[in-house]
Amino acid sequence: MLNEAEQKTFAQKLENYADLTIKIGVGLQPGQRLIIRAPIEAAPLVRLLTAKAYQAGAKFVDVLWQDDALILSRFKYAPRDSFEEFAAWKMDGLRQVVEQGGATLRIYAEDPDLLKEQDPDLVAQAERVAQTQLVPIRRITMANLCNWSLISVPIPSWAAKIFPHDEPEQQIAKLWELIFQVCRVDQPDPIMAWQKHIQQMNTKKEYLNAKQYVALKYTAPDTDFTIGLPEHHIWHGVEAVTAGGITFIPNLPTEEIFTMPHKNIATGVVTSTKPLSHGGVLIKNFSLTFEEGRIVNVTAETGEATLRKLVETDEGASYLGEIALVPHSSPISQAGLLFYNSLFDENASSHLAIGKAYPFCVENGTEMSDEEFAAVGGNNSLTHVDFMIGSAQMNIDGLTHNGTPEPIMRSGEWAISILDF
Ligand code: ZN
Ligand code: ZN
Repeated sequence: MLNEAEQKTFAQKLENYADLTIKIGVGLQPGQRLIIRAPIEAAPLVRLLTAKAYQAGAKFVDVLWQDDALILSRFKYAPRDSFEEFAAWKMDGLRQVVEQGGATLRIYAEDPDLLKEQDPDLVAQAERVAQTQLVPIRRITMANLCNWSLISVPIPSWAAKIFPHDEPEQQIAKLWELIFQVCRVDQPDPIMAWQKHIQQMNTKKEYLNAKQYVALKYTAPDTDFTIGLPEHHIWHGVEAVTAGGITFIPNLPTEEIFTMPHKNIATGVVTSTKPLSHGGVLIKNFSLTFEEGRIVNVTAETGEATLRKLVETDEGASYLGEIALVPHSSPISQAGLLFYNSLFDENASSHLAIGKAYPFCVENGTEMSDEEFAAVGGNNSLTHVDFMIGSAQMNIDGLTHNGTPEPIMRSGEWAISILDF
Protein backbone atom coordinates (compact mmCIF):
# COMPACT_ATOMS: atom_id res chain seq x y z
CA MET A 1 0.00 0.00 0.00
CA LEU A 2 1.23 3.47 -0.83
CA ASN A 3 0.71 6.31 1.62
CA GLU A 4 -0.89 9.51 0.42
CA ALA A 5 2.38 11.26 -0.38
CA GLU A 6 3.36 8.31 -2.58
CA GLN A 7 0.04 8.11 -4.42
CA LYS A 8 0.62 8.86 -8.04
CA THR A 9 -1.70 11.21 -9.88
CA PHE A 10 -3.56 10.02 -12.95
CA ALA A 11 -1.24 12.07 -15.17
CA GLN A 12 1.82 10.40 -13.62
CA LYS A 13 0.37 6.94 -14.13
CA LEU A 14 -0.54 7.70 -17.71
CA GLU A 15 2.98 8.94 -18.29
CA ASN A 16 4.41 5.77 -16.68
CA TYR A 17 2.09 3.64 -18.84
CA ALA A 18 3.32 5.38 -22.00
CA ASP A 19 6.95 5.04 -20.89
CA LEU A 20 6.52 1.36 -20.10
CA THR A 21 4.81 0.75 -23.44
CA ILE A 22 7.53 2.36 -25.53
CA LYS A 23 10.61 1.26 -23.55
CA ILE A 24 9.70 -2.19 -22.21
CA GLY A 25 6.69 -3.15 -24.35
CA VAL A 26 7.74 -2.17 -27.87
CA GLY A 27 11.40 -1.92 -26.87
CA LEU A 28 11.71 0.87 -29.41
CA GLN A 29 15.26 1.47 -30.63
CA PRO A 30 16.72 4.80 -31.77
CA GLY A 31 16.32 5.19 -35.54
CA GLN A 32 13.33 2.82 -35.78
CA ARG A 33 10.02 3.75 -37.37
CA LEU A 34 6.91 3.04 -35.32
CA ILE A 35 3.45 2.38 -36.71
CA ILE A 36 0.52 2.42 -34.28
CA ARG A 37 -2.98 0.96 -34.78
CA ALA A 38 -5.47 2.52 -32.38
CA PRO A 39 -9.15 3.29 -31.84
CA ILE A 40 -9.92 7.00 -32.27
CA GLU A 41 -10.92 7.20 -28.58
CA ALA A 42 -7.25 6.54 -27.76
CA ALA A 43 -6.09 9.81 -29.36
CA PRO A 44 -4.81 11.43 -26.10
CA LEU A 45 -2.78 8.31 -25.26
CA VAL A 46 -1.53 8.01 -28.85
CA ARG A 47 -0.28 11.61 -28.74
CA LEU A 48 1.59 10.87 -25.50
CA LEU A 49 3.03 7.63 -26.93
CA THR A 50 4.14 9.48 -30.05
CA ALA A 51 5.99 12.04 -27.94
CA LYS A 52 7.62 9.24 -25.92
CA ALA A 53 8.58 7.43 -29.13
CA TYR A 54 10.30 10.49 -30.58
CA GLN A 55 12.03 11.10 -27.22
CA ALA A 56 13.29 7.51 -27.43
CA GLY A 57 14.79 8.25 -30.85
CA ALA A 58 12.03 7.11 -33.24
CA LYS A 59 12.69 8.18 -36.82
CA PHE A 60 9.03 8.47 -37.78
CA VAL A 61 5.74 7.63 -36.05
CA ASP A 62 2.40 7.20 -37.78
CA VAL A 63 -1.03 5.90 -36.91
CA LEU A 64 -3.76 3.80 -38.50
CA TRP A 65 -7.00 4.87 -36.79
CA GLN A 66 -9.89 2.50 -36.19
CA ASP A 67 -13.51 3.31 -35.33
CA ASP A 68 -16.18 0.85 -34.14
CA ALA A 69 -18.96 3.16 -35.39
CA LEU A 70 -17.70 2.89 -38.97
CA ILE A 71 -17.56 -0.89 -38.71
CA LEU A 72 -21.13 -1.01 -37.44
CA SER A 73 -22.34 1.27 -40.27
CA ARG A 74 -20.90 -1.13 -42.77
CA PHE A 75 -22.70 -4.12 -41.25
CA LYS A 76 -25.96 -2.18 -41.14
CA TYR A 77 -26.00 -0.52 -44.55
CA ALA A 78 -23.33 -1.84 -46.94
CA PRO A 79 -24.47 -4.17 -49.77
CA ARG A 80 -24.70 -7.75 -48.48
CA ASP A 81 -22.42 -8.96 -51.28
CA SER A 82 -19.66 -6.41 -50.55
CA PHE A 83 -17.97 -8.08 -47.58
CA GLU A 84 -14.96 -9.28 -49.58
CA GLU A 85 -13.86 -5.62 -49.78
CA PHE A 86 -10.85 -4.71 -47.64
CA ALA A 87 -8.50 -1.72 -47.20
CA ALA A 88 -5.46 -3.71 -48.30
CA TRP A 89 -3.35 -0.55 -48.58
CA LYS A 90 -3.34 -0.25 -44.79
CA MET A 91 -1.85 -3.73 -44.41
CA ASP A 92 0.69 -2.96 -47.16
CA GLY A 93 1.74 0.16 -45.26
CA LEU A 94 2.08 -1.77 -42.03
CA ARG A 95 4.09 -4.49 -43.71
CA GLN A 96 6.38 -1.98 -45.36
CA VAL A 97 7.27 -0.43 -42.01
CA VAL A 98 8.08 -3.73 -40.28
CA GLU A 99 9.86 -5.23 -43.29
CA GLN A 100 12.15 -2.21 -43.28
CA GLY A 101 13.09 -2.75 -39.63
CA GLY A 102 10.33 -0.72 -37.95
CA ALA A 103 8.26 -1.59 -34.90
CA THR A 104 4.51 -1.83 -34.45
CA LEU A 105 2.15 -1.13 -31.57
CA ARG A 106 -1.48 -2.10 -31.45
CA ILE A 107 -3.84 -0.44 -29.00
CA TYR A 108 -6.70 -2.85 -28.73
CA ALA A 109 -10.13 -1.90 -27.42
CA GLU A 110 -13.49 -2.65 -28.91
CA ASP A 111 -17.16 -2.79 -28.00
CA PRO A 112 -17.71 -6.46 -27.05
CA ASP A 113 -21.35 -6.24 -28.22
CA LEU A 114 -20.71 -4.26 -31.41
CA LEU A 115 -21.85 -6.96 -33.84
CA LYS A 116 -24.22 -8.84 -31.55
CA GLU A 117 -27.27 -8.09 -33.73
CA GLN A 118 -25.49 -8.70 -37.05
CA ASP A 119 -25.67 -11.71 -39.34
CA PRO A 120 -23.09 -14.30 -38.05
CA ASP A 121 -22.31 -15.29 -41.66
CA LEU A 122 -21.32 -11.73 -42.56
CA VAL A 123 -19.35 -11.36 -39.32
CA ALA A 124 -17.48 -14.59 -40.11
CA GLN A 125 -16.89 -13.50 -43.71
CA ALA A 126 -15.47 -10.12 -42.70
CA GLU A 127 -13.29 -11.85 -40.09
CA ARG A 128 -11.97 -14.35 -42.66
CA VAL A 129 -11.20 -11.58 -45.18
CA ALA A 130 -9.39 -9.54 -42.53
CA GLN A 131 -7.41 -12.55 -41.29
CA THR A 132 -6.41 -13.45 -44.86
CA GLN A 133 -5.17 -9.90 -45.46
CA LEU A 134 -3.28 -10.02 -42.18
CA VAL A 135 -1.33 -13.20 -43.08
CA PRO A 136 1.87 -11.44 -44.26
CA ILE A 137 2.05 -9.15 -41.23
CA ARG A 138 1.17 -12.00 -38.86
CA ARG A 139 3.94 -14.09 -40.39
CA ILE A 140 6.36 -11.36 -39.34
CA THR A 141 5.00 -10.73 -35.83
CA MET A 142 4.32 -14.39 -35.01
CA ALA A 143 7.93 -15.23 -35.85
CA ASN A 144 9.15 -12.21 -33.82
CA LEU A 145 10.92 -10.83 -36.89
CA CYS A 146 10.12 -7.33 -35.64
CA ASN A 147 9.56 -5.84 -32.18
CA TRP A 148 5.89 -5.28 -31.45
CA SER A 149 3.48 -4.87 -28.60
CA LEU A 150 -0.21 -4.98 -27.80
CA ILE A 151 -1.74 -2.78 -25.08
CA SER A 152 -5.22 -1.52 -24.32
CA VAL A 153 -7.10 1.67 -23.52
CA PRO A 154 -10.52 2.31 -21.95
CA ILE A 155 -13.24 3.24 -24.44
CA PRO A 156 -16.81 4.10 -23.32
CA SER A 157 -18.62 1.05 -24.81
CA TRP A 158 -16.12 -1.40 -23.34
CA ALA A 159 -15.91 0.31 -19.93
CA ALA A 160 -19.73 0.31 -19.74
CA LYS A 161 -19.77 -3.43 -20.32
CA ILE A 162 -17.38 -4.08 -17.41
CA PHE A 163 -18.96 -1.59 -14.97
CA PRO A 164 -22.63 -1.46 -16.02
CA HIS A 165 -23.82 0.16 -12.78
CA ASP A 166 -21.58 3.24 -12.82
CA GLU A 167 -21.86 6.65 -14.48
CA PRO A 168 -19.96 6.86 -17.80
CA GLU A 169 -17.17 9.03 -16.38
CA GLN A 170 -16.75 6.64 -13.46
CA GLN A 171 -16.64 3.64 -15.82
CA ILE A 172 -13.68 5.07 -17.73
CA ALA A 173 -11.85 6.10 -14.55
CA LYS A 174 -12.33 2.66 -13.01
CA LEU A 175 -11.09 0.87 -16.11
CA TRP A 176 -8.00 3.07 -16.24
CA GLU A 177 -7.21 2.24 -12.60
CA LEU A 178 -7.61 -1.44 -13.35
CA ILE A 179 -5.30 -1.26 -16.38
CA PHE A 180 -2.71 0.66 -14.34
CA GLN A 181 -2.94 -1.94 -11.58
CA VAL A 182 -2.62 -5.07 -13.74
CA CYS A 183 0.17 -3.43 -15.79
CA ARG A 184 1.99 -2.66 -12.48
CA VAL A 185 1.97 1.04 -13.41
CA ASP A 186 0.68 1.98 -9.95
CA GLN A 187 3.82 0.58 -8.32
CA PRO A 188 6.59 2.95 -7.18
CA ASP A 189 8.94 1.86 -9.96
CA PRO A 190 6.95 0.16 -12.75
CA ILE A 191 10.00 -0.70 -14.85
CA MET A 192 11.70 -2.39 -11.89
CA ALA A 193 8.45 -4.24 -11.08
CA TRP A 194 8.43 -5.60 -14.64
CA GLN A 195 12.06 -6.66 -14.44
CA LYS A 196 11.23 -8.69 -11.32
CA HIS A 197 8.18 -10.23 -13.03
CA ILE A 198 10.31 -11.15 -16.08
CA GLN A 199 12.86 -12.82 -13.80
CA GLN A 200 10.23 -14.93 -12.02
CA MET A 201 8.63 -16.02 -15.27
CA ASN A 202 12.00 -16.91 -16.80
CA THR A 203 12.62 -19.38 -13.94
CA LYS A 204 9.38 -21.22 -14.76
CA LYS A 205 10.07 -21.26 -18.49
CA GLU A 206 13.53 -22.72 -17.94
CA TYR A 207 12.12 -25.44 -15.66
CA LEU A 208 9.49 -26.52 -18.20
CA ASN A 209 11.93 -26.32 -21.11
CA ALA A 210 14.34 -28.62 -19.27
CA LYS A 211 11.53 -31.09 -18.44
CA GLN A 212 10.38 -31.57 -22.08
CA TYR A 213 7.13 -33.29 -21.04
CA VAL A 214 5.51 -35.36 -23.79
CA ALA A 215 1.99 -34.33 -22.83
CA LEU A 216 -0.07 -32.34 -20.32
CA LYS A 217 -3.09 -33.75 -18.53
CA TYR A 218 -5.82 -31.35 -17.33
CA THR A 219 -8.48 -32.23 -14.78
CA ALA A 220 -11.20 -29.89 -13.51
CA PRO A 221 -15.01 -29.95 -13.31
CA ASP A 222 -16.26 -30.85 -16.83
CA THR A 223 -12.67 -31.04 -18.10
CA ASP A 224 -10.71 -34.25 -18.63
CA PHE A 225 -8.21 -33.60 -21.32
CA THR A 226 -4.77 -34.73 -22.48
CA ILE A 227 -2.74 -32.80 -25.03
CA GLY A 228 0.59 -33.75 -26.61
CA LEU A 229 3.67 -31.55 -26.83
CA PRO A 230 5.97 -31.79 -29.86
CA GLU A 231 9.58 -32.85 -29.51
CA HIS A 232 11.88 -29.87 -28.90
CA HIS A 233 8.99 -27.58 -27.97
CA ILE A 234 9.93 -24.29 -26.33
CA TRP A 235 8.02 -22.53 -23.53
CA HIS A 236 7.92 -18.75 -23.80
CA GLY A 237 6.56 -15.98 -21.66
CA VAL A 238 6.57 -12.26 -20.97
CA GLU A 239 9.76 -11.29 -22.74
CA ALA A 240 10.58 -11.97 -26.39
CA VAL A 241 13.62 -11.27 -28.56
CA THR A 242 13.65 -10.49 -32.29
CA ALA A 243 15.94 -12.27 -34.73
CA GLY A 244 18.01 -9.06 -34.65
CA GLY A 245 18.33 -9.18 -30.85
CA ILE A 246 15.79 -6.52 -29.75
CA THR A 247 14.05 -7.41 -26.47
CA PHE A 248 10.36 -6.56 -26.19
CA ILE A 249 7.15 -7.59 -24.40
CA PRO A 250 4.46 -8.57 -26.91
CA ASN A 251 1.53 -8.11 -24.51
CA LEU A 252 0.99 -5.63 -21.66
CA PRO A 253 -0.21 -7.01 -19.30
CA THR A 254 1.05 -10.58 -19.50
CA GLU A 255 1.10 -13.38 -16.94
CA GLU A 256 1.31 -16.46 -19.18
CA ILE A 257 3.92 -19.11 -19.95
CA PHE A 258 3.04 -20.71 -23.28
CA THR A 259 4.10 -23.20 -25.91
CA MET A 260 2.51 -25.03 -28.82
CA PRO A 261 0.77 -28.41 -28.70
CA HIS A 262 1.27 -31.25 -31.15
CA LYS A 263 -1.72 -30.62 -33.39
CA ASN A 264 -2.63 -34.29 -33.83
CA ILE A 265 -2.47 -35.27 -30.16
CA ALA A 266 -5.42 -34.16 -28.02
CA THR A 267 -8.16 -36.27 -26.53
CA GLY A 268 -11.03 -35.61 -24.16
CA VAL A 269 -13.21 -32.66 -23.25
CA VAL A 270 -12.33 -29.11 -22.18
CA THR A 271 -14.88 -26.70 -20.78
CA SER A 272 -14.47 -22.93 -20.78
CA THR A 273 -14.31 -21.12 -17.44
CA LYS A 274 -14.87 -17.62 -18.85
CA PRO A 275 -16.98 -16.35 -21.74
CA LEU A 276 -15.17 -15.68 -25.00
CA SER A 277 -15.79 -12.34 -26.67
CA HIS A 278 -15.27 -12.96 -30.37
CA GLY A 279 -16.25 -10.86 -33.39
CA GLY A 280 -18.62 -8.77 -31.28
CA VAL A 281 -20.41 -11.86 -29.93
CA LEU A 282 -20.16 -13.34 -26.44
CA ILE A 283 -19.76 -17.14 -26.40
CA LYS A 284 -20.65 -18.58 -22.98
CA ASN A 285 -20.22 -21.91 -21.17
CA PHE A 286 -18.85 -23.90 -24.04
CA SER A 287 -17.19 -27.30 -24.29
CA LEU A 288 -14.98 -28.74 -27.00
CA THR A 289 -14.45 -32.47 -27.54
CA PHE A 290 -11.23 -33.68 -29.16
CA GLU A 291 -10.16 -36.80 -31.02
CA GLU A 292 -6.61 -37.09 -32.39
CA GLY A 293 -6.20 -33.36 -31.96
CA ARG A 294 -9.31 -32.44 -33.90
CA ILE A 295 -12.36 -30.67 -32.46
CA VAL A 296 -15.15 -33.16 -33.15
CA ASN A 297 -17.92 -31.61 -31.09
CA VAL A 298 -18.85 -28.10 -29.96
CA THR A 299 -21.54 -27.04 -27.49
CA ALA A 300 -22.22 -23.57 -26.07
CA GLU A 301 -24.91 -22.03 -23.90
CA THR A 302 -24.85 -18.84 -26.00
CA GLY A 303 -22.99 -17.91 -29.19
CA GLU A 304 -22.79 -21.49 -30.44
CA ALA A 305 -23.25 -20.38 -34.10
CA THR A 306 -20.29 -17.99 -33.80
CA LEU A 307 -18.15 -20.67 -32.17
CA ARG A 308 -19.00 -23.16 -34.94
CA LYS A 309 -18.13 -20.57 -37.61
CA LEU A 310 -14.82 -19.96 -35.87
CA VAL A 311 -13.97 -23.68 -35.82
CA GLU A 312 -14.95 -23.92 -39.50
CA THR A 313 -12.79 -20.95 -40.61
CA ASP A 314 -10.39 -23.39 -42.28
CA GLU A 315 -8.88 -26.86 -41.69
CA GLY A 316 -6.48 -25.61 -38.98
CA ALA A 317 -9.27 -23.89 -37.03
CA SER A 318 -10.45 -27.26 -35.74
CA TYR A 319 -7.04 -27.91 -34.13
CA LEU A 320 -5.17 -26.14 -31.32
CA GLY A 321 -2.16 -23.86 -31.63
CA GLU A 322 -1.33 -22.71 -28.09
CA ILE A 323 -1.13 -24.02 -24.55
CA ALA A 324 -0.76 -21.33 -21.88
CA LEU A 325 -0.39 -21.60 -18.12
CA VAL A 326 -1.56 -18.77 -15.85
CA PRO A 327 -1.96 -19.11 -12.07
CA HIS A 328 -5.40 -18.44 -10.63
CA SER A 329 -3.77 -15.87 -8.30
CA SER A 330 -2.59 -13.66 -11.20
CA PRO A 331 -3.37 -9.95 -10.59
CA ILE A 332 -5.88 -9.99 -13.44
CA SER A 333 -7.65 -13.03 -12.06
CA GLN A 334 -7.70 -11.39 -8.61
CA ALA A 335 -9.45 -8.36 -10.08
CA GLY A 336 -12.36 -10.81 -10.23
CA LEU A 337 -13.88 -9.23 -13.32
CA LEU A 338 -14.66 -10.35 -16.80
CA PHE A 339 -12.90 -7.91 -19.12
CA TYR A 340 -14.60 -9.01 -22.37
CA ASN A 341 -11.18 -8.49 -23.96
CA SER A 342 -8.76 -11.36 -24.60
CA LEU A 343 -5.66 -9.33 -23.76
CA PHE A 344 -6.85 -9.24 -20.14
CA ASP A 345 -9.03 -12.31 -19.85
CA GLU A 346 -6.37 -14.63 -21.26
CA ASN A 347 -4.00 -13.44 -18.56
CA ALA A 348 -6.51 -14.27 -15.84
CA SER A 349 -6.62 -17.95 -16.65
CA SER A 350 -4.83 -20.91 -18.14
CA HIS A 351 -5.96 -21.14 -21.74
CA LEU A 352 -5.71 -22.83 -25.10
CA ALA A 353 -5.94 -21.29 -28.56
CA ILE A 354 -7.89 -22.51 -31.53
CA GLY A 355 -5.86 -22.14 -34.74
CA LYS A 356 -2.35 -21.09 -35.64
CA ALA A 357 0.68 -22.02 -33.53
CA TYR A 358 3.63 -19.68 -33.00
CA PRO A 359 6.56 -21.10 -35.01
CA PHE A 360 9.09 -19.97 -32.39
CA CYS A 361 7.53 -22.48 -29.94
CA VAL A 362 9.57 -25.32 -31.47
CA GLU A 363 13.31 -25.45 -32.19
CA ASN A 364 14.11 -24.01 -35.65
CA GLY A 365 10.38 -23.41 -36.20
CA THR A 366 10.85 -19.95 -37.69
CA GLU A 367 13.08 -21.39 -40.42
CA MET A 368 10.63 -24.16 -41.38
CA SER A 369 8.32 -24.18 -44.39
CA ASP A 370 4.61 -24.67 -43.64
CA GLU A 371 5.00 -28.38 -44.53
CA GLU A 372 8.00 -28.86 -42.26
CA PHE A 373 6.21 -27.05 -39.42
CA ALA A 374 3.14 -29.27 -39.86
CA ALA A 375 5.37 -32.36 -39.87
CA VAL A 376 6.67 -31.58 -36.36
CA GLY A 377 3.11 -30.98 -35.11
CA GLY A 378 2.70 -27.24 -35.74
CA ASN A 379 -0.80 -26.08 -36.61
CA ASN A 380 -1.48 -23.54 -39.35
CA SER A 381 -4.67 -21.51 -39.72
CA LEU A 382 -5.91 -18.04 -40.58
CA THR A 383 -7.16 -17.74 -37.04
CA HIS A 384 -5.72 -17.77 -33.51
CA VAL A 385 -8.28 -17.35 -30.73
CA ASP A 386 -7.53 -17.89 -27.04
CA PHE A 387 -10.19 -19.39 -24.76
CA MET A 388 -10.01 -19.73 -21.00
CA ILE A 389 -10.11 -23.03 -19.16
CA GLY A 390 -8.26 -22.35 -15.89
CA SER A 391 -9.88 -22.17 -12.47
CA ALA A 392 -9.14 -22.70 -8.78
CA GLN A 393 -10.27 -26.32 -9.33
CA MET A 394 -7.82 -27.12 -12.12
CA ASN A 395 -4.96 -29.61 -11.76
CA ILE A 396 -2.35 -29.99 -14.50
CA ASP A 397 0.24 -32.74 -14.73
CA GLY A 398 3.17 -33.07 -17.07
CA LEU A 399 3.66 -36.59 -18.46
CA THR A 400 7.28 -37.70 -18.74
CA HIS A 401 8.63 -39.97 -21.51
CA ASN A 402 7.76 -43.07 -19.48
CA GLY A 403 4.26 -41.75 -18.75
CA THR A 404 4.84 -40.68 -15.14
CA PRO A 405 2.68 -37.68 -14.16
CA GLU A 406 4.43 -34.79 -12.39
CA PRO A 407 2.45 -31.91 -10.88
CA ILE A 408 2.65 -28.57 -12.71
CA MET A 409 -0.44 -26.90 -11.22
CA ARG A 410 -2.62 -27.81 -8.25
CA SER A 411 -5.91 -26.02 -7.52
CA GLY A 412 -5.01 -23.47 -10.16
CA GLU A 413 -1.58 -22.57 -8.71
CA TRP A 414 1.98 -23.39 -9.75
CA ALA A 415 3.03 -26.65 -8.13
CA ILE A 416 6.49 -27.11 -9.57
CA SER A 417 9.07 -27.59 -6.83
CA ILE A 418 11.57 -25.03 -8.12
CA LEU A 419 9.20 -22.20 -7.23
CA ASP A 420 10.12 -22.15 -3.57
CA PHE A 421 13.10 -19.88 -4.03
ZN1 ZN B 1 -1.93 -16.87 -24.71
ZN1 ZN C 1 -2.87 -16.75 -27.94
